[in-house]
Amino acid sequence: MIKNIIFDLGNVLLSFRPENFLSRYTNDSELIKKFISNVIRSRIWLKLDRGIIPMQKARDEFLLRFPENSNLINLFFEHWIEMLTPIEKNIEVLRDLKKNGYQLYILSNFIEEAFSYVSKKYEFFSLFDGGIISYRVHIIKPEMEIFKELIEKYNLDPEECVFIDDIATFLFKPRKLKMKTIQYLPNTDLREELRNLNINI
Ligand SMILES: [Mg+2]
Repeated sequence: MIKNIIFDLGNVLLSFRPENFLSRYTNDSELIKKFISNVIRSRIWLKLDRGIIPMQKARDEFLLRFPENSNLINLFFEHWIEMLTPIEKNIEVLRDLKKNGYQLYILSNFIEEAFSYVSKKYEFFSLFDGGIISYRVHIIKPEMEIFKELIEKYNLDPEECVFIDDIATFLFKPRKLKMKTIQYLPNTDLREELRNLNINI
């Protein structure tokens, strides 16, 4: 029987669409593509998720590497955190799960400055019973240790857990541990997927 529901944040509970965000500042789609691969898909960004460098240092590093994009880099770093807004239909699911007695956890790759902003701004964070955020433990998904960290910290039985993430490759490790998993994509009916696992929702 499932007792614990574990949520990723980005694109499950909080929208993270850098393409849309960047298109407010430029209509050069090649530049947007380049920016995403140079910045958001970079090793430096992973260091931010892992909590081993501060955001200011990452920004300086990007400015040094891509001086030709300095305007966009500065705009991005000043405003990107604001694009993290709740996906309301899933917040509703989260509230109903809480009402129905499930334990709720976060398991997310997230940057310290951004987590501090969203966790203060959005009250749904008070619904969680706990969680592991990558920057705090210096471990990132898909590393096995981050899943084990959650299980051990809260003494969870993986067979009583379902883990929800938008990225398919982040679901392999929890499945190895015998957790149930749901890949959440924009047109996924999360309520329906949970019901398919006999969850009361
Ligand atoms: Mg995500």
